[in-house]
Amino acid sequence: MSDQDGKKPLGLSGGARSGRVNQSFSRGRTKSVVVETKRKRVVVPKPGQQSAAAQNAEGNKGRKTVNDAELERRLKALQAAKAREAEEEERRKREEKEREEERARRRAEAEAKEREEREREEALRAKEEEEKRRREEAESRKSAPAEPAAPAPAAAPQADKQPRGGANKPAPQPARRKEDDDRGGRGKGGDRGGRRSGKLTVNQALAGGEGGRQRSLAAMKRKQERARQKAMGGTESREKVVRDVQVPETIVVSELANRMAERAADVVKSLMQMGMMVTQNQSIDADTAELIVEEFGHKIVRVSDADVEDVIDQVEDKTEDLQPRPPVITIMGHVDHGKTSLLDKIRQANVVSGEAGGITQHIGAYQVTTESGAVLTFLDTPGHAAFTSMRARGAQVTDIVVLVVAADDQVMPQTVEAINHAKAANVPMIVAINKVDKPAADIQKVRTDLLQHEVIVEALSGDVQDVEVSAKTGQGLPELLEAIALQAEILELKANPDRPAEGAVIEAQLDVGRGPVATVLVQKGTLRQGDVFVVGEQWGKVRALMNDKGDRVTDAGPSVPVEVLGLNGTPEAGDVLNVVETEAQAREIAEYREQAAKDKRAAAGAATTLDQLLAKAKADENVAELPIVVKADVQGSAEAIVQALEKIGNDEVRVRVIHYGVGAITESDIGLAEASGTPVIGFNVRANAPARNAANQKGVEIRYYSVIYDLVDDVKAAASGLLGAEIRENFIGYAQIKETFRVSGVGNVAGCLVTEGVARRSAGVRLLRDDVVIHEGTLKTLKRFKDEVKEVQSGQECGMAFENYDDIRQGDVIEIFEREEVERTLA
Ligand code: GDP
Repeated sequence: MSDQDGKKPLGLSGGARSGRVNQSFSRGRTKSVVVETKRKRVVVPKPGQQSAAAQNAEGNKGRKTVNDAELERRLKALQAAKAREAEEEERRKREEKEREEERARRRAEAEAKEREEREREEALRAKEEEEKRRREEAESRKSAPAEPAAPAPAAAPQADKQPRGGANKPAPQPARRKEDDDRGGRGKGGDRGGRRSGKLTVNQALAGGEGGRQRSLAAMKRKQERARQKAMGGTESREKVVRDVQVPETIVVSELANRMAERAADVVKSLMQMGMMVTQNQSIDADTAELIVEEFGHKIVRVSDADVEDVIDQVEDKTEDLQPRPPVITIMGHVDHGKTSLLDKIRQANVVSGEAGGITQHIGAYQVTTESGAVLTFLDTPGHAAFTSMRARGAQVTDIVVLVVAADDQVMPQTVEAINHAKAANVPMIVAINKVDKPAADIQKVRTDLLQHEVIVEALSGDVQDVEVSAKTGQGLPELLEAIALQAEILELKANPDRPAEGAVIEAQLDVGRGPVATVLVQKGTLRQGDVFVVGEQWGKVRALMNDKGDRVTDAGPSVPVEVLGLNGTPEAGDVLNVVETEAQAREIAEYREQAAKDKRAAAGAATTLDQLLAKAKADENVAELPIVVKADVQGSAEAIVQALEKIGNDEVRVRVIHYGVGAITESDIGLAEASGTPVIGFNVRANAPARNAANQKGVEIRYYSVIYDLVDDVKAAASGLLGAEIRENFIGYAQIKETFRVSGVGNVAGCLVTEGVARRSAGVRLLRDDVVIHEGTLKTLKRFKDEVKEVQSGQECGMAFENYDDIRQGDVIEIFEREEVERTLA
């Protein structure tokens, strides 16, 4: 449908191509037609005298313009072509014959060579067997050396030691395999050495790929050369030693080469043959390393630094040690359905009024006691973001989900999302039908709505508890809490409080006065002041514990959320905290994890195969990106923002958060933003003075927000700016070609009747033949009688000629359309 396509003269087009064009018509009608540019049959067999286009044009306009001279010329051309063809044919035959002779000669030669070689190998084998016998005898006398010292070659061991050496070199073959000379049987270098694993090597794969092709002369020569080397003792390969190569989870290519005592360049080459484009300074993972080690004929010994983690107590608790623990509850639901109000009411504190924009921004946890005395732990999270990102990190802390649905509203997208999250996490759900105090409340509708999402509440004889509540009046809250307690009882939640503590980070931040602070929900054991711990890539010693009321406590048991002070760095939400015995252990584990994470990132960056790179390049080709740096007050907000921002976009535009973090905007953020040409977004944080100066100097934009929606909206608007305007096509008319005639100086002109709409000279036109678009372009002339006109109405006759196109026929239909640019916005 593009202009270039259309403008191409038909006869010169490379071949048949087709596509689909969607057209929109005046009253909202649309239709789609097949666009096919047909390739014309070329009459003269060899291109030369006449271009295909010229022929087409002539063929179509009939004999009218073919004069005698032209006829003669064409006849001559035809004869010349025929003569050339005959000549060609003869030459081909001659060459074929020569080739056949050459092939026969080579075959004979090759057979002779092979015979010769077979004899020689036979002799070698005899020698080898002799050698072996002698060795065995020697061994049986318990005084044999490990390797025969004699220079006499041993075919098989040599084959073992020379398994590498480029994909183009087929591995040498033991003599006794000689007979079955098919490629499939000769993938492995030898059948007696250490490399007996069933793993596929690159050589094998490549050898297999060659299929049943005839062996080339070069291959014969190589083989002969090898046989000669063997006969001479094969000194080079005999020096090669099979090494035990220790490989950790990731290893730098040069280090791997080092450990194998191979050249780094060879290793890189080998990796390239496997489709991995890495330099010797990049890391590869252990699986890849294993392939390489085998490829080079060594043995891999996998080692894991992760052994340092073994000090973390992973013993399963005995049933008799387990004691009941409070349930951990997450409240989820659509925005404005009353999550914060409910949490607030439950906690008897007023968070809603003081909160910017009414969005839950603080992420923490608190405990309440029900009237019946049950203790419940509530996570104070902003909906699903924290729930999902914690789960993504492997921390499943939630035991029960309370799904809030406003009775004056209905089941909304985020309600469904919440249901799906709870189901995916296999966490039981309790439905809180909120805002029942409102006159508009329709409780029954909520219940039936939920049916559609396979949530069948008890009121409808299902097994999901539902409670009618009002976060405003407090109505139904005791019932809700009891329902939760009941659900918890069914779950029989237990944990062993008498063991080193394990917990999950709910929230973490860098506090100006107190240093790194993390809210940890203890899941097992008891966390005590003075405990040494490792948490994610950080470690520390508990300096102080604060409970949800801000009081200092000395310990925290299962399901108790506490703020932990005494960390060496800020962990991330979802990180697991483990108490260990000594500071040295804690530090070692943290350092190991940090390194492992770094290596993993490096390996992930490097371990892209060429295919992946290409796919990525292709995918990226037409996508405009809006990069952004985000800094927020707490981890939870940062993650919620990142998730919201990454959802913005479509196939053409997307937002890419190149960095996000917690705390003030610093100079380094500005530096990063400048380098990537991005703005910096501060959510409830400000830039410090040096950062402000740097931003001013470098012209980096800083934007501050305290409401997530505003932030997301603004970014969305910015991203929309990246969208290319959409080109919409409007159909304006149709004309039928009644006859065609030739006008000197103009070319072929179509005498048309405008059957629908209007024909406009400035508009785009398509030529349709049997409903197939065979040309798209513009008009050269639009004539009404003798005059050039701008527009011709439906029902009138006119003359039209195409720009750069002549193949028009009676009966063809001309479609007239206009294009307009439409600004687009992201949904
Ligand atoms: P969230 O976005 O789900 O956290 O919803 P909020 O807790 O911020 O509540 C949104 C709005 O609904 C606020 O204006 C609340 O005052 C109001 N609201 C919440 N629960 C109730 C309720 O039970 N009854 C009434 N009338 N209003 C409520």
